[in-house]
Amino acid sequence: MIETHAKPVLIVDDLRVAYGSVAALHGVSLEVHAGETVALIGANGAGKSTTLRAISGLLKARSGTIVWQGRPIHNLAPDRIVAAGVAHCPEERHVWPHMTVEENIRLGAYLCRSREEIRRRLALAFERFPRLRERAGQFAGTLSGGEQQMLAIARALMSEPALLMLDEPSLGLSPRIADEVFEVVRAINAHGVTVLLVEQNIHNALSIASRAYVIETGRITAARPSAELRGDPALLRAYLGGAPAAA
Ligand code: ATP
Repeated sequence: MIETHAKPVLIVDDLRVAYGSVAALHGVSLEVHAGETVALIGANGAGKSTTLRAISGLLKARSGTIVWQGRPIHNLAPDRIVAAGVAHCPEERHVWPHMTVEENIRLGAYLCRSREEIRRRLALAFERFPRLRERAGQFAGTLSGGEQQMLAIARALMSEPALLMLDEPSLGLSPRIADEVFEVVRAINAHGVTVLLVEQNIHNALSIASRAYVIETGRITAARPSAELRGDPALLRAYLGGAPAAA
């Protein structure tokens, strides 16, 4: 692990998760420091989404611990984990097609009781995503894939998280639109939000993350600075079982 400017805010230790009797994670350990963007990369089915789902409380750990800002969260319900400052933007995006863009964004503030505070956060979201402001009254189902991804991110930010977990934000997007999404992620991180990013697009993931963990069949097999991984395609191929090193 490279030296970072801050102590870990998220510590996942020996995490084991199963779907019924089928084990998916066999002891995943990773750390994320305050202010970092960290990528979790690996081939299809390696356990990336499962790791994020366990951190956000959607899946229960069989064993192991997840400590967020010094507090164990692996036994907390998902809404408590959101309240503690962890937001999860899932791979499926879960945009509600027959609700407007604004209604979708507001859903992200479901734990906030103050109307004034919700208005403030919404104004911030529209400032950050002007295209969503232009389409505020439009049904979310009419948005392009890239706009829906922006919407999913805007909604996740409505809980004002300290950690944003993004699962495959570039999935199904053209390279140009994917670049826009990654620019947004970079800007969010620059505003002090720590980011844990799952991506199949390794080139993009390594370009915005300072460090990366490689996961293979439910196990972390490497933890390297992104620059080191980027500079060694053969190493990447070895870790990722032939997955493309760049896209
Ligand atoms: P992908 O990029 O394809 O989403 P991933 O690295 O995110 O891959 P996971 O989705 O975490 O991988 O899957 C890890 C393992 O758990 C795989 O073997 C997968 O088949 C299995 N798995 C995932 N979701 C379920 C589920 N709902 N029920 C049963 N098994 C599952």
